[in-house]
Amino acid sequence: MSLHIISHIARILSSFVVCILITSSAFSQSTPHSFLLPIDIPPLLSANYGELRPNHFHGGLDFKTQSIVGKNLIAIDSGYVSRIQVRPSGYGLALYITHYNGYTSVYGHLLSLNQKIDSVVKAYQKFHTKNIVDIHFQSHELPIQRGEIIGLSGNSGSSGGPHLHFEIRDSKTQNTLNPLLFYPQIVDKSRPKITAIGVYPLDSSSFVSQARSKKFYKVLTNKSEGLQKISEPIHAWGTIGFSVQGNDFMQGTGHVYGFYTVKLLCNDTVLYARRIDEISFENTADINSFIDYTEYAKTKRYFEKAFVEPNNTLQVYTHLHNYGKYSAKTIDTVTCEFIVGDFNENMAAVTFTVIQQPIHDTILSKLPPYPQKNSCKLPFTHTLQGFTFTGNEQTFFTDFTFTATVDTLNPKKRYHSHRYSIKSDQLIFKKAASIQIQSHVPKELQEKAIIELSNAAGAKSPILATFDEQGIASGYTKRPGTFGVVLDTVAPFVKPNFANNGNLQANKSLSFKISDNFSGIKEYNAYVDDEWVILNYDAKSATVYLKFADTNMQFNTKHSLRIEVRDMCNNTTTKEYSFFK
Ligand SMILES: [Zn+2]
Repeated sequence: MSLHIISHIARILSSFVVCILITSSAFSQSTPHSFLLPIDIPPLLSANYGELRPNHFHGGLDFKTQSIVGKNLIAIDSGYVSRIQVRPSGYGLALYITHYNGYTSVYGHLLSLNQKIDSVVKAYQKFHTKNIVDIHFQSHELPIQRGEIIGLSGNSGSSGGPHLHFEIRDSKTQNTLNPLLFYPQIVDKSRPKITAIGVYPLDSSSFVSQARSKKFYKVLTNKSEGLQKISEPIHAWGTIGFSVQGNDFMQGTGHVYGFYTVKLLCNDTVLYARRIDEISFENTADINSFIDYTEYAKTKRYFEKAFVEPNNTLQVYTHLHNYGKYSAKTIDTVTCEFIVGDFNENMAAVTFTVIQQPIHDTILSKLPPYPQKNSCKLPFTHTLQGFTFTGNEQTFFTDFTFTATVDTLNPKKRYHSHRYSIKSDQLIFKKAASIQIQSHVPKELQEKAIIELSNAAGAKSPILATFDEQGIASGYTKRPGTFGVVLDTVAPFVKPNFANNGNLQANKSLSFKISDNFSGIKEYNAYVDDEWVILNYDAKSATVYLKFADTNMQFNTKHSLRIEVRDMCNNTTTKEYSFFK
């Protein structure tokens, strides 16, 4: 248990005592557990804290908002607005309130802010002529009262449907905390369920089912008792790791949630135990080591590994025995058990038998050799014909395979360098490695040049690059794949959702679609009658909105509209329209 959590729990417990003594007195209002709910409708969750997500642990609770936008959002306590972000993706429109007891509440995917806050944000956007903003405020600028309506819930940013994403952070560290620590009224009465377990041979002399590869076992449920089993015993030898897959449930919704606690025992020894109450932003991407990332990349299934890799620095582990690795090196039959729990200690458990048996020499002689691995604890550099890959002792989560090859063919003259392929058993890195590619992009075109990364399935993604005097392109990657230098000379695409010269008298806003072929949208601006106006870009629908109420325009007259959209390689599309309003 981290010291942070001990102190949080101590704070909560002490405030609890205070509350029992002086129930409903004014004093209890400033204690953490007496935070108001952030919404004024019955709390139903669509996601809980610490759930496994791409590249991060879910940092808060997702409150359902009855499938619509526009529900009142409530300040959980007094404080002040400390930060507002307006972004086309991520949290979209997000509001941070710093409270006076050491906690900060965060509200994401908002539809709108209350009038007082909204006018401050829009004035800032207009002053800086910037649509995407991340504003930090001093404590006196926007004070907030406990219970104040601070805005309306929405679906902005990377949101998959109307809901409130809500976090409680430690104001000092900005670490996210499990909000359920503060809301004892949100009670989970349904037990979790384990759906599968995985078994992994972890070194050159380890085997699962007489093979060097991992194996998954489906878990069968006995509904009445929550006792779960697998249908066959596991045969293993050497140093073995286990993983677990499953979900938690809550009454009143059809959503599935993540486990709060996971524990693994073999022969009554606890090998692994974790609980997710606090995550730092620095560590949250270590989820890619916490889960079986290879399996996730292939099937999108999340298996939590009950063994900890050398460069995984997560602080969620409450007990580890030999990093959670199990040693099956004597002929024996042992019983192991995964026990998972939710925040209200509803539990599920699966017991399984491990038959420990060494592999036959005849089988061993037919297995492919164990691959050569590089140490993740050492700096790593690989060079090949005009290509350099440089990692450090933080780049890889664990020891890794690495090969690089070069392809000098250049179909359709698309590439301005050779193409280099990196293959590794690590499909995602902890820290980005730097790559250098010798290109032959003419100097005047270097600002349009970019490194293209193609994955094994052929999907292409851009890596921003800088060029030196010799034409060497430098960039960073967290993934293996095929790298080559390409040009992006195609400007973004703009398509209005209104008729040019049209009459928009009845409309409160106008909108247009924007997209880019490769490097991505960097900036978007619009001018009505040559004056910069605020735009709202929703990346998931590729739509930009211009609300007439956000402008200073005169009504009942003809207006000019100029739209400028720029991509990451500074290709710009400018379009001019007129409309009557
Ligand atoms: Zn969320």
